[in-house]
Amino acid sequence: MERTLSIIKPDGVKRGLIGEVIKRFEKEGIRIAAMKMIYMSKKDAEGFYAVHREKPFFDSLTDFMSSGPIVVMALEGDNVIQRNRELMGATNYKEAKPGTIRADFATDIEKNVVHGSDSPENAEIEIAYFFSKLEIH
Ligand code: UDP
Ligand code: MG
Repeated sequence: MERTLSIIKPDGVKRGLIGEVIKRFEKEGIRIAAMKMIYMSKKDAEGFYAVHREKPFFDSLTDFMSSGPIVVMALEGDNVIQRNRELMGATNYKEAKPGTIRADFATDIEKNVVHGSDSPENAEIEIAYFFSKLEIH
């Protein structure tokens, strides 16, 4: 059993895609172990995306991620890190497989609706960034 962090980004929340995204997880038998809606400050977003600090898209990405409320979730299931990445589709929605969340809903390489952890190490760090032990069920 594995856990991963999922985020419905500000574009997904604004466009009314919360239910659509959650439905796709639950349909796959992925369990939601923790969930809340929060509004990150620019500093919160910079801390979350610290691994991308040197990237050219860092400033724009952290502006975007602090532009409105997001839904953060800890997902649980067998191999859930990879399964979530498959449901999300490629970072660039133009390269995402048909039927993935990003292929269906993303409008931009930045505004791509969802985040998902990419490794067990990052999943642990990212879940701990948003949730205390008491909030994970
Ligand atoms: N991003 C961007 N331009 C790029 C690459 C990434 O704006 O050229 C944004 C996009 O929102 C992406 C996030 O930065 O989801 C984090 O990038 P990463 O490479 O980690 O992609 P992900 O893991 O989200 O697929
Ligand atoms: Mg990533």
